[in-house]
Amino acid sequence: MVMIHETAEVHPTAQIGPGTRIWHQAQVREEARLGRECIISKGVYIDYGVVIGDRVKIQNGAMIYHGVTIEDGVFIGPQACLTNDKLPRAINPDGTLKRDADWEVGRIRVCYGASIGAGAIVLPDVTIGRFALVGAGTLVTQDVPDHGLVIGVPARLVGYVCPCGGRLGAEGQRSRGAREQGSGGAGERVVLWCQRCGTEVEVRRADWERV
Ligand SMILES: [Zn+2]
Repeated sequence: MVMIHETAEVHPTAQIGPGTRIWHQAQVREEARLGRECIISKGVYIDYGVVIGDRVKIQNGAMIYHGVTIEDGVFIGPQACLTNDKLPRAINPDGTLKRDADWEVGRIRVCYGASIGAGAIVLPDVTIGRFALVGAGTLVTQDVPDHGLVIGVPARLVGYVCPCGGRLGAEGQRSRGAREQGSGGAGERVVLWCQRCGTEVEVRRADWERV
């Protein structure tokens, strides 16, 4: 069963998965596709053609624009904004109003289990990796690796996080050589541990060394 609050506006061509709840004054536009068991909170805007997976939570007032794809299990904090225009202009150089054909849609992918903090802004042509965590108020201008923790304006990578949200790394960290992983160079992985729940997580060595 789908729950749509009477004040929400869901376009008839939008597809909504079973168990999804859409709250007060949310707007879901044409051809948007939402999976099952999602929570779309008050005042959320979901643009036309946006694709959202299962068990996604989108908090009050978040803006999700055309060109965005959100995988399963993603959290989007209140008033986060996922944008789609890298060269925003209302008008063409000749002063005429820009039409759909006059600009190029940027793409954003938010991968499985990732979280985006309150008030964060994500610029177009960015992928946010699996279980990555974007801090509140962060401005994301480039890709975030799997499990990466980014904060600040512009975002900088400051660490790694577990699926539980705890910090990974530092103590007890050890590295696994390329041979052990059966691949060389960029394929080399570092094994980290969660300081909260003890889970072991592998990240790319090249990413780990960016911190
Ligand atoms: Zn953990």
